[in-house]
Amino acid sequence: MWHLMINELDMPTVLFLQKTSYIAGALTLGYLRLTSTESRGVGLLAASFVVLAAGSTLAGHAEIHPTLYGPLSLINIVLAVLGYCMLGLAFVVISNPDRKVNTGLVLIPATATLAAGLITDFHLNNTYRATTFTFLGCLTMAATAVVVFLDAYREPLPIRRLVAAILASASLLSLIMGLEFSFNAFPVLDVAGGFFLMIISKFVLAIAIVIFISERQHTKIKHLADRDALTGLYNRRFFNANTPQQLRHGDAILFLDIDHFKQLNDRWGHAAGDEVLATMAQAVQSILPSPALLARQGGEEFIVFLPGNAGDGLLHAERIRRAVAELRYPTLAPEVAVTTSIGIARALHEGLELSHLCREADRALYLAKAAGRNRVCDADLSSFHELSTAGLMQHRARPS
Ligand code: GH3
Ligand code: MG
Ligand code: MG
Repeated sequence: MWHLMINELDMPTVLFLQKTSYIAGALTLGYLRLTSTESRGVGLLAASFVVLAAGSTLAGHAEIHPTLYGPLSLINIVLAVLGYCMLGLAFVVISNPDRKVNTGLVLIPATATLAAGLITDFHLNNTYRATTFTFLGCLTMAATAVVVFLDAYREPLPIRRLVAAILASASLLSLIMGLEFSFNAFPVLDVAGGFFLMIISKFVLAIAIVIFISERQHTKIKHLADRDALTGLYNRRFFNANTPQQLRHGDAILFLDIDHFKQLNDRWGHAAGDEVLATMAQAVQSILPSPALLARQGGEEFIVFLPGNAGDGLLHAERIRRAVAELRYPTLAPEVAVTTSIGIARALHEGLELSHLCREADRALYLAKAAGRNRVCDADLSSFHELSTAGLMQHRARPS
């Protein structure tokens, strides 16, 4: 039934639909370009729609004015080549906005087409023109489908697969049309039906790009909401929302606080302090096992949730303490170094409240500071352990 319906469309209707759909697509994308900060490449895509719309309008005029057929059909094919090259390049940029591309490159194939037309008059032959148009569309959309799909490694947005699939389908459609034009036989799709499906694919593509940009923005906003800007670590809000409120036996909470950080700021300046915080945060993150959740609590304080299956919390705490003490900051000065004090509290039975363990870890941290800093204190209910570079020692924190 669908096949019958699209076969009933006549060519002027199809060209009219093509033109209006390009303009609607261009308006949607143009609006997106103006209102979104994450839309590099969308302006180029909107422009490619305008160029393709202009090309299709001229194709319509070429049919109506036989005297102008030669120049109009040449401009039509040049604009089609230009539009498809712009469209391909736009997707390459949209897919990865950091990619450096020279937009001027799109003029090379268009100029080459113009030159070829002026020399050979190939554009006067409908079949040559149609095959050039369709095979170029097939190539650009296949290539951009691959680029959009592969960029998922860098930015895994769910909509990518859909955009890549639409581009691949549009490429396949162009291939079928190109082959049909080449053999001048239309067993799968007639000309009007094929063009109609191409129009639909462009329209779907424009909508998918709107979703693409909104997904990208959403991901960025979520990242900003969950992370601390200086260190890149999760923030306190994310930590509280993603740590179980009822802990399991063996889970541990670590409180880290850099020692005498104020002195470091006073001696080397706040920018140096910032660099120390960022470097240290990444170093701690890199030595933690993957199930651990590290967050910046605020200032020079950090918090770690270590689930029971992540190994012995006390050993992890000592590894962190040692790693921080050994860190150097060559971009500042060779002598810059910091130490950290760590309080650790472990859930000794099922269902212990997170807030309770946090209070215990905080108390242990206070004890680590009081005991001289650069050490780990374990807030047991009745005692605490202190690990130092000299090895494991056990202290009585308070009378049992
Ligand atoms: P203690 O060993 O007792 O923890 O001493 P401290 O100096 O580390 O602790 P204090 O609480 O006195 O000072 C913390 C300092 O951390 C004060 C503040 O200027 C600094 N600080 C907090 N946030 C930042 C930040 O984002 N960047 C920089 N550079 N400094 C910060
Ligand atoms: Mg502090
Ligand atoms: Mg401190």
